[in-house]
Amino acid sequence: MPHIATTNPATGQVLKTYEAMSTEQLDGAIERTDLAFQQLRETTVDQRARWMHAAADLLDAERDEIARIMTTEMGKTYAAAQAEVTKCATAARFYADKAPAFLADEPADADAVKATRAFIRYQPIGVVLAVMPWNFPLWQVMRFAAPALMAGNTGLLKHASNVPQTALLLEDMFRRAGFPEGAFTTVLVGSDAVDRILSDPRVRAATLTGSEPAGRSIAQIAGRELKKTVLELGGSDPFVVMPSADVDRAAEVATTARCQNNGQSCIAAKRFIVHTDVFDAFAEKFAANMAALRVGDPMDPDTDVGPLASERGRDEVHAQVRDAVDNGATVLCGGERPTGDGWFYPPTVVTDLTPQMRMWSEEVFGPVAGLFRVSSYEEAIAVANGTSFGLGSNAWTRDPAEQERFATDLDAGNVFINGMTTSYPELPFGGVKNSGYGRELSALGMREFCNTKTVWVGEGAASAGAGAHAE
Ligand code: NAP
Repeated sequence: MPHIATTNPATGQVLKTYEAMSTEQLDGAIERTDLAFQQLRETTVDQRARWMHAAADLLDAERDEIARIMTTEMGKTYAAAQAEVTKCATAARFYADKAPAFLADEPADADAVKATRAFIRYQPIGVVLAVMPWNFPLWQVMRFAAPALMAGNTGLLKHASNVPQTALLLEDMFRRAGFPEGAFTTVLVGSDAVDRILSDPRVRAATLTGSEPAGRSIAQIAGRELKKTVLELGGSDPFVVMPSADVDRAAEVATTARCQNNGQSCIAAKRFIVHTDVFDAFAEKFAANMAALRVGDPMDPDTDVGPLASERGRDEVHAQVRDAVDNGATVLCGGERPTGDGWFYPPTVVTDLTPQMRMWSEEVFGPVAGLFRVSSYEEAIAVANGTSFGLGSNAWTRDPAEQERFATDLDAGNVFINGMTTSYPELPFGGVKNSGYGRELSALGMREFCNTKTVWVGEGAASAGAGAHAE
């Protein structure tokens, strides 16, 4: 199978293939992006905001066509793809409107530092490499690109090899919105080119959303090159249900939380940890909801769950389920790999898991839920925190004291109580442990790739700063 290609996951048909860029073409793309930085850094934030608003308008105007491309490339339902485009437009407007405040000079206590004036200034750092995954092919890129461009950085996108059309349309969209040529550049290359790109002195930092192995690889290169990275990696988010929860509602939200995006979301709830008092009621409702989801053509408005993005991905999910079943787990629904065209997989619930099974601790990237029975708050926390991941987390309880405890005790980058993990431009997003480091979204996401510069101004007479410790 060609490496950089659009292959429709609903049919397995290869629709379009692309040659990877040569090293000369790649160097030219880096050069263009660096030259664009010299231009962009001289623009005002108001100018960039006008371009970002234009980008949002293009996304709205072209929503259906962009959504169709995404569905064709990676299999999410058309309705989900349309919603993703709209979310990207919202984030673009958020950063266009908020950037002036997020980037404004921040006054410091001048007296305390013996200055006449002291403040923090946020400035762009240059070309930022973005290595992105296919699962939210527009949103993952926009949540990096909107704050980065608004801060005055330029972006070099190496997208996943199975979404080249989405990658190219993003470059085209920013150009048409008015950003200078090269301010956002897509490079069609495989992951083997990442070392060369990140080693280039013109590239100042990198952000990766993807798997743990990819994160380790990029962090190693960045360590060698002394460059900043933000890593958004995998997750196996817990979804805890306690006795005081609204069990019907929890089972409903659990179904969406597990199967949104055909089960291929880093922040999907993957492990359902249910108190024994409500376990049977939850398990029955959850399995019934999961079994009732309609699997099929992602362009069909009646479809709830489309195909997985690749054959390899589906094989991996099925291998994880088989491993559990072969070692004594119980399947409450699903679990059979369909025959026929397309990489479909049925919503599946597996229980009676033990620590020896892969599903206990690994991320399952498909519509497959692990169901765990616990008999106390302490046991729920132990199971919830018992993996190497720490991305999102969910807890269902109507007990205010318990809500407080979950907010503190869940070892994750976010805690959603009586809801499911979602990303909002207004809230920071990221993980702890092997789920990565750094934050996207909110003001924090914008400042990850800024030079946080201290500015100290003295009188210019006598020696206002002299005598201070030299460090
Ligand atoms: P992946 O294999 O890591 O691919 C993601 C990106 O990294 C692609 O552009 C890929 O390029 C590139 N890549 C792969 N190996 C690399 C390496 N050794 N060095 C440099 N770049 C490399 O991830 P995936 O399996 O397709 O995507 C699913 C994973 O992403 C899951 O673990 C999921 O949880 C995680 N994810 C995390 C978040 C988050 O926000 N934390 C969001 C979405 C997904 P090629 O396509 O050319 O191989």
